[in-house]
Amino acid sequence: MNFEEIAALEKTALVPTYDRLPILAVKGEGCYLCDDRGKKYLDFLGGLAVNALGYAHPELLAVLRDESETLLHVSNLLYHRYQAPLAEKLARLAGLDRVFFGNTGTEAIEGAIKLARAYARKHHPAEPFERTEILAVENSFHGRTLGALSATWPEKYRKPFEPLVPGVRFVRLNDVAHLRESFSARVAAVLLEVIQGEGGVVELREDFLKTAEELCRANDALFVADEIQCGLARTGQWFAYQKFGLKPDVVVVAKPLAAGLPLSALIARDHVAQAFSPGMHGTTFGGGPLQCRLALKVIEIMERPGFLEYVREVGAYFRAELEKLRQEQPVIREVRGDGLMLALELTVPCKSVVRKALEAGFLVNCIQENVLRFLPPLIIERRHVDELIAALRSIVAALTESEMEGVTA
Ligand SMILES: *Cc1c(COP(=O)(O)O)cnc(C)c1O
Repeated sequence: MNFEEIAALEKTALVPTYDRLPILAVKGEGCYLCDDRGKKYLDFLGGLAVNALGYAHPELLAVLRDESETLLHVSNLLYHRYQAPLAEKLARLAGLDRVFFGNTGTEAIEGAIKLARAYARKHHPAEPFERTEILAVENSFHGRTLGALSATWPEKYRKPFEPLVPGVRFVRLNDVAHLRESFSARVAAVLLEVIQGEGGVVELREDFLKTAEELCRANDALFVADEIQCGLARTGQWFAYQKFGLKPDVVVVAKPLAAGLPLSALIARDHVAQAFSPGMHGTTFGGGPLQCRLALKVIEIMERPGFLEYVREVGAYFRAELEKLRQEQPVIREVRGDGLMLALELTVPCKSVVRKALEAGFLVNCIQENVLRFLPPLIIERRHVDELIAALRSIVAALTESEMEGVTA
């Protein structure tokens, strides 16, 4: 079936949850995606930060081929060879001790919320009230199941599904005084993204992060870092919180972990992880041999000398080029982000920019109406960045002209 046939069939066959870009993806290689007409796109979306090593990476394909013929699934009732080594590796990278494997980011957030409650109940049973509150941050995104959704900020995601899980309180973004005011002995955990992804690539400030950590430490609440989007080398550090020397009690990762297969990890301090005992939490698919073996290879590749430095270098170059563009183009309000998690905030909606970029052969993403977000594979090169910047320059310049003429794009 071609694009038109697939798009027509989806209109009636799927639950209408997605507003897709008009591309039928059929193949990918490196940083390029190919549609059914043979058109190539340079990918600055990276499968939403999942395809960190690009498409069809030969070493990942070799692991996939071998393990898919060996063992796909055994359930968590048995041992297999790959969970423990992967857990040990992730824990070491995060400076933590134990791992629970799930399938999606949202599922790992649910696990973190449950762990925070279990921990509070185990260690503070004598209090005259329940320690069940979660402090989240305005503008956050933590997922779409009821627990994770309760800690997700935009009303449009939450409202239709209320009542949600009670006890979540939102702290104003980077507002240290409000954070202190909102904190109490009822708080089981503070949950935050060091760089908010879906919220528009917004960095939390160091003083805010450090205060959150201190308050948690002083009150024996869990400090939980949602590193699903900003973690695993995206910013040129293993985890975005490492830039500030933070020591979370729980770290959650997912998106790029198994290169496109569903796999998430909840990584916790030993003392915290011990709040779960057998039977308290689980999952059928989580941490299967194929996913875990693939994730071991992903991490092995990212651990090679120079990989993280490369991400920082290309990211800094990309950011500097975006900054130059901002100085030239009045419709660009701000450049944000770190490493290869970057964004341009425009003064106008960016839907038309995404469409024109697609026509020019670039896959970019628009969030929050007016924020262009870039989450390219971490193997992207300077010449790719140059190509995108050149295309954006002409697209955005045309926008600026139409703006100045008072024409809406
Ligand atoms: C994508 C994302 C999630 C949800 O992950 P899913 O795999 O879609 O369930 C949660 N938190 C952050 C920061 C994310 O970017």
